[in-house]
Order: sequence, then C-alpha cells, then structure tokens
Amino acid sequence: MIKQFIDLNDGKKGLLIYMRGIIDFKDNRIKEEWYSNKLNPRLTNYVLMVALFTWTELEKRIMLTSLYRTKKEEKEYNSSGIHNAWRAVDIRTSNFTELEIEKIVKFCNENFHYDVNGLNSVAVYGDARHKDHIHLQIGWRV
Ligand SMILES: [Zn+2]
Repeated sequence: MIKQFIDLNDGKKGLLIYMRGIIDFKDNRIKEEWYSNKLNPRLTNYVLMVALFTWTELEKRIMLTSLYRTKKEEKEYNSSGIHNAWRAVDIRTSNFTELEIEKIVKFCNENFHYDVNGLNSVAVYGDARHKDHIHLQIGWRV
C-alpha cells in the first residue's frame, strides 16, 4: 500500500490510499500510462474512488482498458478526442452484472462532476459506443 497526495486541482490536497491490488490493467501499455501520472489528477482521484467503491461494495476489482489514445487512434475509434487529452478512462464491464454496473454509474454521477456547467455525465454506459465498458470523463474546467 502506498499513500499518495494527489492535487485535486482546486487548491485542496487529498490523502488517498493507493491500493495497487484493486486496480487491474488490460495490458502493460495501460499500466504504464496509469503510472506515468499524466492522467488528469481529478480523474485519477475519481478512478481510485471507483476502485474503492467496487472493492468495498461489490468485492470486485476494476480493470482499466483504455487511458490515452493518440490522435490517429481517436480517429479510428471515431472518438471525441477526450482520451487524447488524458481526461477519460475506460473500465471493463464484463466482470460486473448489469445491476452492479448500474450501481457504479450511479455512484459516479452522484458524487463526481464533469465541470462547472454540469451538462455532461462523468460516467457513460449503455449507448452504442459504450456497451462493454464504462467511459469515465471530465471536462477541462473545474
Ligand atoms: Zn472512453
């Protein structure tokens, strides 16, 4: 267990218990991206909170399947470009039941905010592009 302070981007400092064992990675690339500390710090906090939530509430770990995407990859996925900006991650859903997925999405959208406008959801799941993963995203404005 490693204790880490992560800047929340809003002047506060949050003490997070960084439990390596409760986050899995699809492959080494994703693992390296996670530990590169390039992911937006507020989103990093959200991912850790989701991991703690699924661990304590569902006794399951999360697996990250996508963090950063190059511009070329974003085009291939017909994506918005938000992964390219280090402001989105994808969490695999095949190890969760539909009810569990619903709980995770609800937890995220009730506790996290996208940006000051609050027009977008942090957790996106269930539409044509997000069937096998929960897409977690945040805006660039706090
Ligand atoms: Zn995504």
